Amino acid sequence: MRVYNFSAGPSMLPLEVLKRAQDEMTEYGKSGMSVMEMSHRSKDYDDIIKNAEALVRELMNVPDNYKVLFLQGGASSQFAMVPMNLARNKKADYVITGQWAKKAAQEAEKYIEVNRVASSADKTFSYIPKLDPASFSKDADYFYICYNNTIYGTRYTLLPETDAVLVADISSCVMSEVIDVSKFGLLFAGAQKNLGPAGVTLVIVRDDLIGNCLPGTPTMFDYEIHAKNDSLYNTPPTYAIYVLKLVLEWVKEQGGVAALQKINEKKAKMLYDFLDSSKLFKGTVVPEDRSLMNIPFVTGNDELDAKFVKEAKEAGFVNLKGHRTVGGMRASIYNAMPVEGVEKLVRFMKKFEAENI
Ligand SMILES: *Cc1c(COP(=O)(O)O)cnc(C)c1O
Repeated sequence: MRVYNFSAGPSMLPLEVLKRAQDEMTEYGKSGMSVMEMSHRSKDYDDIIKNAEALVRELMNVPDNYKVLFLQGGASSQFAMVPMNLARNKKADYVITGQWAKKAAQEAEKYIEVNRVASSADKTFSYIPKLDPASFSKDADYFYICYNNTIYGTRYTLLPETDAVLVADISSCVMSEVIDVSKFGLLFAGAQKNLGPAGVTLVIVRDDLIGNCLPGTPTMFDYEIHAKNDSLYNTPPTYAIYVLKLVLEWVKEQGGVAALQKINEKKAKMLYDFLDSSKLFKGTVVPEDRSLMNIPFVTGNDELDAKFVKEAKEAGFVNLKGHRTVGGMRASIYNAMPVEGVEKLVRFMKKFEAENI
Protein backbone atom coordinates (compact mmCIF):
# COMPACT_ATOMS: atom_id res chain seq x y z
CA MET A 1 0.00 0.00 0.00
CA ARG A 2 1.37 3.45 -0.89
CA VAL A 3 1.54 5.85 2.05
CA TYR A 4 1.24 9.63 2.23
CA ASN A 5 4.90 10.58 2.26
CA PHE A 6 5.61 13.98 3.83
CA SER A 7 9.37 13.70 3.36
CA ALA A 8 11.30 16.91 2.69
CA GLY A 9 13.29 15.16 -0.02
CA PRO A 10 13.59 12.89 -1.83
CA SER A 11 9.85 13.14 -1.78
CA MET A 12 6.63 11.91 -3.34
CA LEU A 13 6.31 11.64 -7.09
CA PRO A 14 2.94 11.60 -8.87
CA LEU A 15 1.70 8.01 -9.13
CA GLU A 16 0.88 8.55 -12.82
CA VAL A 17 4.55 9.37 -13.43
CA LEU A 18 5.77 6.26 -11.62
CA LYS A 19 3.31 4.10 -13.59
CA ARG A 20 4.41 5.59 -16.88
CA ALA A 21 8.06 4.98 -15.98
CA GLN A 22 7.08 1.42 -15.04
CA ASP A 23 5.34 0.89 -18.39
CA GLU A 24 8.40 2.11 -20.25
CA MET A 25 10.94 0.57 -17.90
CA THR A 26 12.16 -2.36 -19.99
CA GLU A 27 11.36 -1.00 -23.45
CA TYR A 28 11.25 2.69 -24.24
CA GLY A 29 9.18 3.34 -27.38
CA LYS A 30 10.54 1.27 -30.24
CA SER A 31 14.12 1.37 -28.96
CA GLY A 32 14.09 -2.18 -27.57
CA MET A 33 15.84 -1.02 -24.41
CA SER A 34 15.28 0.95 -21.24
CA VAL A 35 16.23 4.63 -21.00
CA MET A 36 18.95 3.57 -18.53
CA GLU A 37 20.65 1.44 -21.18
CA MET A 38 20.49 4.03 -23.93
CA SER A 39 23.36 6.13 -25.30
CA HIS A 40 23.03 9.75 -24.27
CA ARG A 41 24.00 10.55 -27.87
CA SER A 42 21.13 8.54 -29.37
CA LYS A 43 18.17 10.09 -31.18
CA ASP A 44 15.72 8.74 -28.59
CA TYR A 45 17.66 10.29 -25.74
CA ASP A 46 18.17 13.54 -27.58
CA ASP A 47 14.39 13.83 -27.87
CA ILE A 48 13.99 13.21 -24.13
CA ILE A 49 16.48 15.86 -23.00
CA LYS A 50 15.32 18.41 -25.60
CA ASN A 51 11.71 17.90 -24.51
CA ALA A 52 12.69 18.26 -20.88
CA GLU A 53 14.34 21.59 -21.65
CA ALA A 54 11.41 22.78 -23.77
CA LEU A 55 9.00 21.93 -20.93
CA VAL A 56 11.07 23.87 -18.38
CA ARG A 57 11.06 26.86 -20.74
CA GLU A 58 7.33 26.62 -21.34
CA LEU A 59 6.22 25.95 -17.76
CA MET A 60 8.47 28.57 -16.16
CA ASN A 61 8.18 31.04 -19.01
CA VAL A 62 11.97 31.22 -19.34
CA PRO A 63 13.08 34.15 -21.54
CA ASP A 64 15.19 33.30 -24.62
CA ASN A 65 18.34 34.91 -23.22
CA TYR A 66 18.59 32.27 -20.48
CA LYS A 67 20.20 28.84 -20.64
CA VAL A 68 18.45 25.84 -19.10
CA LEU A 69 20.98 23.29 -17.85
CA PHE A 70 20.68 19.81 -16.34
CA LEU A 71 23.68 19.24 -14.09
CA GLN A 72 24.86 16.81 -11.42
CA GLY A 73 26.22 17.28 -7.92
CA GLY A 74 22.93 18.39 -6.34
CA ALA A 75 21.97 21.86 -5.24
CA SER A 76 25.02 21.76 -2.96
CA SER A 77 27.43 21.89 -5.92
CA GLN A 78 25.74 25.12 -6.98
CA PHE A 79 26.94 26.65 -3.72
CA ALA A 80 30.41 26.53 -5.32
CA MET A 81 29.49 26.91 -8.99
CA VAL A 82 27.64 30.18 -8.42
CA PRO A 83 30.63 32.09 -6.97
CA MET A 84 33.09 30.41 -9.33
CA ASN A 85 31.12 31.53 -12.38
CA LEU A 86 29.55 34.82 -11.35
CA ALA A 87 32.35 36.48 -9.41
CA ARG A 88 33.98 39.30 -11.35
CA ASN A 89 34.56 41.63 -8.40
CA LYS A 90 34.80 38.59 -6.13
CA LYS A 91 32.13 39.94 -3.82
CA ALA A 92 28.57 38.87 -3.10
CA ASP A 93 25.74 39.57 -0.64
CA TYR A 94 23.97 36.69 1.12
CA VAL A 95 20.83 36.63 3.25
CA ILE A 96 21.06 33.91 5.89
CA THR A 97 17.61 32.36 6.27
CA GLY A 98 18.60 28.84 7.29
CA GLN A 99 21.00 25.95 6.87
CA TRP A 100 21.06 25.98 3.09
CA ALA A 101 21.78 29.71 2.80
CA LYS A 102 24.41 29.35 5.53
CA LYS A 103 26.10 26.50 3.71
CA ALA A 104 25.97 28.41 0.43
CA ALA A 105 27.65 31.44 2.05
CA GLN A 106 30.31 29.28 3.69
CA GLU A 107 31.12 27.60 0.39
CA ALA A 108 31.24 30.91 -1.50
CA GLU A 109 33.67 32.27 1.06
CA LYS A 110 36.28 29.81 -0.18
CA TYR A 111 36.43 31.77 -3.42
CA ILE A 112 35.11 35.27 -2.85
CA GLU A 113 34.31 37.87 -0.23
CA VAL A 114 30.89 37.24 1.30
CA ASN A 115 28.80 39.95 2.94
CA ARG A 116 26.03 38.54 5.13
CA VAL A 117 23.48 41.34 4.83
CA ALA A 118 20.92 39.87 7.24
CA SER A 119 20.11 36.73 9.18
CA SER A 120 17.14 35.27 11.04
CA ALA A 121 19.32 32.95 13.15
CA ASP A 122 18.27 34.85 16.32
CA LYS A 123 14.81 33.22 16.20
CA THR A 124 15.72 29.82 14.74
CA PHE A 125 15.09 31.10 11.21
CA SER A 126 11.35 31.39 11.81
CA TYR A 127 11.01 34.52 9.68
CA ILE A 128 12.48 36.23 6.61
CA PRO A 129 14.59 39.16 7.83
CA LYS A 130 13.85 42.72 6.73
CA LEU A 131 16.69 44.14 4.67
CA ASP A 132 18.52 47.40 5.11
CA PRO A 133 19.95 48.52 1.73
CA ALA A 134 22.69 50.35 3.66
CA SER A 135 24.13 46.92 4.48
CA PHE A 136 24.38 45.90 0.79
CA SER A 137 27.76 45.89 -0.96
CA LYS A 138 28.17 48.59 -3.60
CA ASP A 139 29.89 46.33 -6.09
CA ALA A 140 28.49 42.86 -5.36
CA ASP A 141 28.58 40.44 -8.28
CA TYR A 142 25.30 39.00 -7.08
CA PHE A 143 22.76 38.97 -4.27
CA TYR A 144 21.94 35.50 -2.98
CA ILE A 145 18.73 34.21 -1.39
CA CYS A 146 17.24 30.83 -0.56
CA TYR A 147 13.70 31.37 -1.84
CA ASN A 148 11.98 28.68 0.19
CA ASN A 149 13.65 27.40 3.35
CA THR A 150 12.95 23.69 3.38
CA ILE A 151 14.05 23.05 6.95
CA TYR A 152 12.43 26.03 8.69
CA GLY A 153 9.36 26.50 6.50
CA THR A 154 9.77 30.13 5.47
CA ARG A 155 9.63 31.66 2.01
CA TYR A 156 10.03 35.01 0.33
CA THR A 157 6.86 36.69 -0.81
CA LEU A 158 8.65 39.92 -1.80
CA LEU A 159 12.01 39.85 -3.53
CA PRO A 160 14.90 41.94 -2.20
CA GLU A 161 15.22 45.29 -3.92
CA THR A 162 18.74 45.36 -5.19
CA ASP A 163 20.53 46.39 -8.38
CA ALA A 164 22.82 43.39 -8.09
CA VAL A 165 22.16 40.20 -10.04
CA LEU A 166 19.65 38.17 -8.02
CA VAL A 167 20.50 34.49 -7.48
CA ALA A 168 18.08 32.08 -5.80
CA ASP A 169 18.11 28.53 -4.58
CA ILE A 170 14.62 27.32 -5.51
CA SER A 171 15.20 23.63 -4.72
CA SER A 172 12.08 23.24 -2.61
CA CYS A 173 9.68 25.60 -4.41
CA VAL A 174 10.49 25.23 -8.10
CA MET A 175 7.26 24.95 -10.12
CA SER A 176 5.14 25.13 -6.97
CA GLU A 177 4.37 28.80 -7.51
CA VAL A 178 4.87 31.25 -10.35
CA ILE A 179 8.37 32.74 -10.32
CA ASP A 180 9.30 35.56 -12.68
CA VAL A 181 12.58 34.22 -14.10
CA SER A 182 13.41 37.58 -15.68
CA LYS A 183 13.95 39.08 -12.21
CA PHE A 184 16.87 36.71 -11.61
CA GLY A 185 20.32 36.20 -13.04
CA LEU A 186 20.40 32.60 -11.93
CA LEU A 187 18.03 30.06 -10.39
CA PHE A 188 18.85 26.51 -9.38
CA ALA A 189 17.03 23.53 -7.92
CA GLY A 190 17.97 20.00 -6.97
CA ALA A 191 15.26 17.83 -8.52
CA GLN A 192 14.38 15.59 -5.60
CA LYS A 193 11.74 17.83 -4.02
CA ASN A 194 9.46 19.04 -6.77
CA LEU A 195 10.90 17.88 -10.08
CA GLY A 196 11.83 14.22 -10.02
CA PRO A 197 14.37 11.81 -8.57
CA ALA A 198 17.67 12.81 -7.00
CA GLY A 199 20.62 13.07 -9.35
CA VAL A 200 19.80 16.01 -11.57
CA THR A 201 19.97 19.71 -10.76
CA LEU A 202 18.16 22.31 -12.82
CA VAL A 203 20.06 25.55 -13.47
CA ILE A 204 18.57 28.53 -15.29
CA VAL A 205 21.16 31.19 -16.00
CA ARG A 206 21.19 34.41 -18.01
CA ASP A 207 23.49 34.29 -21.05
CA ASP A 208 25.63 37.27 -20.12
CA LEU A 209 26.60 35.74 -16.77
CA ILE A 210 28.43 32.76 -18.19
CA GLY A 211 31.90 32.49 -19.70
CA ASN A 212 33.79 34.33 -16.94
CA CYS A 213 34.63 31.69 -14.38
CA LEU A 214 37.48 32.09 -11.92
CA PRO A 215 40.89 30.73 -13.00
CA GLY A 216 41.25 27.12 -11.88
CA THR A 217 37.52 26.36 -12.04
CA PRO A 218 37.11 22.65 -12.82
CA THR A 219 35.73 22.05 -16.31
CA MET A 220 32.65 20.34 -14.88
CA PHE A 221 31.94 23.44 -12.77
CA ASP A 222 31.93 25.83 -15.72
CA TYR A 223 28.39 26.77 -16.84
CA GLU A 224 29.72 27.73 -20.27
CA ILE A 225 30.96 24.20 -20.99
CA HIS A 226 27.55 22.74 -20.17
CA ALA A 227 25.69 25.49 -22.05
CA LYS A 228 27.78 25.01 -25.22
CA ASN A 229 27.14 21.28 -25.09
CA ASP A 230 23.39 21.41 -24.30
CA SER A 231 24.02 19.62 -20.98
CA LEU A 232 25.69 16.77 -22.89
CA TYR A 233 29.35 17.61 -22.31
CA ASN A 234 29.68 14.32 -20.48
CA THR A 235 27.13 11.62 -19.63
CA PRO A 236 24.25 13.39 -17.90
CA PRO A 237 22.07 11.64 -15.27
CA THR A 238 20.02 10.17 -18.09
CA TYR A 239 17.30 8.34 -16.17
CA ALA A 240 16.76 11.18 -13.69
CA ILE A 241 16.28 13.63 -16.57
CA TYR A 242 13.83 11.22 -18.22
CA VAL A 243 11.70 11.01 -15.03
CA LEU A 244 11.95 14.79 -14.64
CA LYS A 245 10.52 15.09 -18.15
CA LEU A 246 7.61 12.84 -17.16
CA VAL A 247 7.01 15.01 -14.08
CA LEU A 248 6.97 18.14 -16.24
CA GLU A 249 4.43 16.55 -18.59
CA TRP A 250 2.33 15.86 -15.50
CA VAL A 251 2.72 19.50 -14.37
CA LYS A 252 1.48 20.59 -17.78
CA GLU A 253 -1.50 18.23 -17.57
CA GLN A 254 -2.42 19.75 -14.20
CA GLY A 255 -2.73 23.12 -15.94
CA GLY A 256 0.82 24.36 -15.40
CA VAL A 257 2.53 26.14 -12.53
CA ALA A 258 -0.21 28.73 -11.89
CA ALA A 259 -2.81 25.98 -11.52
CA LEU A 260 -0.54 24.02 -9.17
CA GLN A 261 0.08 27.18 -7.14
CA LYS A 262 -3.68 27.48 -6.50
CA ILE A 263 -3.82 23.87 -5.32
CA ASN A 264 -0.69 24.36 -3.19
CA GLU A 265 -2.20 27.47 -1.58
CA LYS A 266 -5.32 25.50 -0.78
CA LYS A 267 -3.35 22.62 0.75
CA ALA A 268 -1.15 24.93 2.84
CA LYS A 269 -4.15 26.97 4.03
CA MET A 270 -5.91 23.84 5.22
CA LEU A 271 -2.97 22.90 7.40
CA TYR A 272 -2.18 26.44 8.64
CA ASP A 273 -5.84 27.15 9.45
CA PHE A 274 -5.93 24.01 11.54
CA LEU A 275 -2.62 24.84 13.29
CA ASP A 276 -3.87 28.35 14.10
CA SER A 277 -7.08 26.99 15.65
CA SER A 278 -5.55 23.97 17.39
CA LYS A 279 -5.20 23.78 21.16
CA LEU A 280 -2.41 21.22 20.87
CA PHE A 281 -0.37 21.95 17.73
CA LYS A 282 1.13 25.20 16.63
CA GLY A 283 3.10 26.38 13.60
CA THR A 284 6.62 27.70 14.20
CA VAL A 285 6.79 30.38 11.48
CA VAL A 286 5.44 33.94 11.52
CA PRO A 287 2.25 34.05 9.40
CA GLU A 288 3.55 36.45 6.74
CA ASP A 289 6.55 34.30 5.76
CA ARG A 290 5.01 30.83 5.79
CA SER A 291 6.08 28.35 3.15
CA LEU A 292 3.57 26.66 0.88
CA MET A 293 5.76 23.58 0.68
CA ASN A 294 7.25 22.84 4.12
CA ILE A 295 5.14 23.28 7.23
CA PRO A 296 6.88 22.80 10.59
CA PHE A 297 4.79 22.47 13.74
CA VAL A 298 5.16 21.43 17.38
CA THR A 299 3.09 20.46 20.38
CA GLY A 300 5.61 22.03 22.75
CA ASN A 301 6.23 18.65 24.38
CA ASP A 302 8.97 16.40 22.94
CA GLU A 303 7.36 13.19 24.16
CA LEU A 304 4.02 14.10 22.64
CA ASP A 305 5.77 15.05 19.37
CA ALA A 306 7.40 11.60 19.27
CA LYS A 307 4.08 9.93 20.03
CA PHE A 308 2.42 11.87 17.23
CA VAL A 309 5.11 10.95 14.69
CA LYS A 310 4.84 7.28 15.67
CA GLU A 311 1.04 7.11 15.54
CA ALA A 312 0.94 9.10 12.30
CA LYS A 313 3.31 6.59 10.73
CA GLU A 314 1.11 3.69 11.82
CA ALA A 315 -1.84 5.46 10.19
CA GLY A 316 0.00 5.84 6.85
CA PHE A 317 1.37 9.40 7.19
CA VAL A 318 5.13 8.97 7.08
CA ASN A 319 8.25 11.14 7.43
CA LEU A 320 6.60 13.79 9.60
CA LYS A 321 9.52 14.11 12.00
CA GLY A 322 11.00 17.62 11.92
CA HIS A 323 14.59 18.34 10.91
CA ARG A 324 17.06 17.39 13.63
CA THR A 325 17.98 21.05 14.16
CA VAL A 326 14.36 22.16 14.77
CA GLY A 327 12.66 19.17 16.38
CA GLY A 328 8.90 18.75 16.36
CA MET A 329 7.21 17.88 13.09
CA ARG A 330 7.35 19.03 9.49
CA ALA A 331 4.91 18.23 6.72
CA SER A 332 6.42 18.72 3.28
CA ILE A 333 3.55 19.04 0.84
CA TYR A 334 5.15 19.38 -2.57
CA ASN A 335 3.30 19.37 -5.89
CA ALA A 336 2.85 15.60 -5.86
CA MET A 337 1.08 15.53 -2.47
CA PRO A 338 -2.63 15.32 -3.29
CA VAL A 339 -5.17 17.61 -1.56
CA GLU A 340 -6.66 14.46 -0.10
CA GLY A 341 -3.37 13.64 1.65
CA VAL A 342 -3.44 16.96 3.52
CA GLU A 343 -7.16 16.62 4.29
CA LYS A 344 -6.57 13.21 5.81
CA LEU A 345 -3.55 14.43 7.77
CA VAL A 346 -5.58 17.28 9.27
CA ARG A 347 -8.34 14.82 10.20
CA PHE A 348 -5.75 12.59 11.86
CA MET A 349 -4.28 15.56 13.76
CA LYS A 350 -7.74 16.53 15.02
CA LYS A 351 -8.28 13.01 16.30
CA PHE A 352 -4.85 12.97 17.97
CA GLU A 353 -5.60 16.32 19.57
CA ALA A 354 -8.91 15.10 20.97
CA GLU A 355 -7.21 12.03 22.45
CA ASN A 356 -4.24 13.85 23.94
CA ILE A 357 -5.44 17.10 25.41
C1 LIG B 1 17.52 19.96 -0.31
C2 LIG B 1 18.05 21.32 -0.48
C3 LIG B 1 19.39 21.56 -0.79
C4 LIG B 1 20.41 20.45 -0.92
O1 LIG B 1 20.21 19.73 -2.07
P1 LIG B 1 21.22 18.58 -2.54
O2 LIG B 1 20.68 18.25 -3.90
O3 LIG B 1 21.10 17.46 -1.55
O4 LIG B 1 22.58 19.15 -2.58
C5 LIG B 1 19.79 22.86 -1.00
N1 LIG B 1 18.92 23.88 -0.89
C6 LIG B 1 17.63 23.69 -0.56
C7 LIG B 1 16.70 24.86 -0.46
C8 LIG B 1 17.15 22.40 -0.35
O5 LIG B 1 15.87 22.21 -0.03
